[in-house]
Amino acid sequence: MEMQVVQRARENFLAGRSRPLEFRVQQLKSLQRMITDRQGEIATALKQDINRSQYDTPLLELIGLENEISLAVSKLAQWAAPRPVEKSLLTISDQVYIQPEPLGVVLIIGAWNYPWALTLQPLVGAIAAGNAAVVKPSELSEYSASLLKALLPRYLDQELYPVVCGGVSETQELLRQRFDHIFYTGNSTVGKLVMEAAARHLTPVTLELGGKSPCYIDKDVDLRVACRSFVNCGQTCIAPDYILCEPSIQNRVVEGIRQTLLFYGPDPKSSPDYGRIINQRHFNRVMALLDGYTAALGGQSDSSQRYIAPTVVKDVPPHARLMQEEIFGPLLPIVTVSDIDDAIHFISEREKPLAIYVFSSNKKVIKRMLAETTSGGVTVNDVMMHYTLNSLPFGGVGQSGTGRYHGKHTFDQLSHHRACLVKSLGMEERVNMPRYPPQNHQKARR
Ligand code: NAD
Repeated sequence: MEMQVVQRARENFLAGRSRPLEFRVQQLKSLQRMITDRQGEIATALKQDINRSQYDTPLLELIGLENEISLAVSKLAQWAAPRPVEKSLLTISDQVYIQPEPLGVVLIIGAWNYPWALTLQPLVGAIAAGNAAVVKPSELSEYSASLLKALLPRYLDQELYPVVCGGVSETQELLRQRFDHIFYTGNSTVGKLVMEAAARHLTPVTLELGGKSPCYIDKDVDLRVACRSFVNCGQTCIAPDYILCEPSIQNRVVEGIRQTLLFYGPDPKSSPDYGRIINQRHFNRVMALLDGYTAALGGQSDSSQRYIAPTVVKDVPPHARLMQEEIFGPLLPIVTVSDIDDAIHFISEREKPLAIYVFSSNKKVIKRMLAETTSGGVTVNDVMMHYTLNSLPFGGVGQSGTGRYHGKHTFDQLSHHRACLVKSLGMEERVNMPRYPPQNHQKARR
């Protein structure tokens, strides 16, 4: 079954159907129509999957997607055009350029936490770049996955952009097939399996993974601003995973977060804006991380609803289990550090994170944090905003992933940049002669 789907996508790609720019634009506009027409159904599916609030659906998933589509539609001709490059003396009268061209059939494997954005954003780039693409949404967000499978063929060419639903075995079956690129979003354990499967066919990969993204709060900052953000129950790849701050401000940080959480009213559990954990396994996993701690804030849970209150834990030792794996839930440990040097050291001796956040009014602190650490992306004095700009490449580094996307970066990531040199024959005698033996050209001409 999976084999036939991939085969058909490839045949259609090879027939050249996905290449004409007008076709790509038409498909992208149709995808835009799907989002506009079906926004209500998409929000309902997300409510069923993850109790996503109606307000958050456009904000966290659909607006970004629509921006990606309209950017691709308006810039496609420019992105797909040959890109002239500098010439040397020997090639001065030739045409020398880079031609972006489609790779072939792309496999897109999405994750459950943003089931629409994480499958459709790569798809926008795949279509724009002229590829065929097989879309495999996460089985954990099952309502979104089946809605996507029902909707996509009504709006897009179904041979070129099929949706395959399923879990581990279906994904592994897909991974046995040969693709021209695999774009995977999810955890790093599966990321390694994807890379292994891709290696068998020498298929390039984009791996959008996760990890522990630190948030350093300097003592020199307005704490009300620093403690203001909280979305999707912490189930966001670039969510601040833990806070680093000096002991002297720890209690004020906790207090700042308490004030922020009043957004949800006195009881987050009854707030329509507060989500739930995706499934029981993840609920148990997140709760187990809390074992042995007393929460400074929150700590309540209800397994029947997979509800976990926004929870803050103070004075977490660096070697605690909470600090070993990505939390991906509404728990926020605070680890105290003695100063900026200590914070930088703490971050640098761990795996390279997907994101780093720094809150400070002190330019020197910001400058040092930027210069002396690395991460996929960084936002200073806010969280997650670097993700929202499609002019910035989004992706990880080291263990947090490989490859980048958003806007033109997705187009480039899913294109082959072909080096093209079209020689002008007119110059052969004058320009090319010195290249050929014998080296003594005077002699050769005689
Ligand atoms: P998930 O469980 O939905 O898995 C992701 C995909 O992998 C799914 O489509 C699933 O079917 C497939 N899969 C699972 N097990 C597999 C196996 N054994 N073989 C082949 N395929 C398999 O999502 P998840 O991994 O729980 O997602 C959460 C993780 O993803 C977190 O680490 C998070 O940080 C990361 N994430 C990263 C980004 C990013 O853009 N960098 C975005 C979202 C999530």
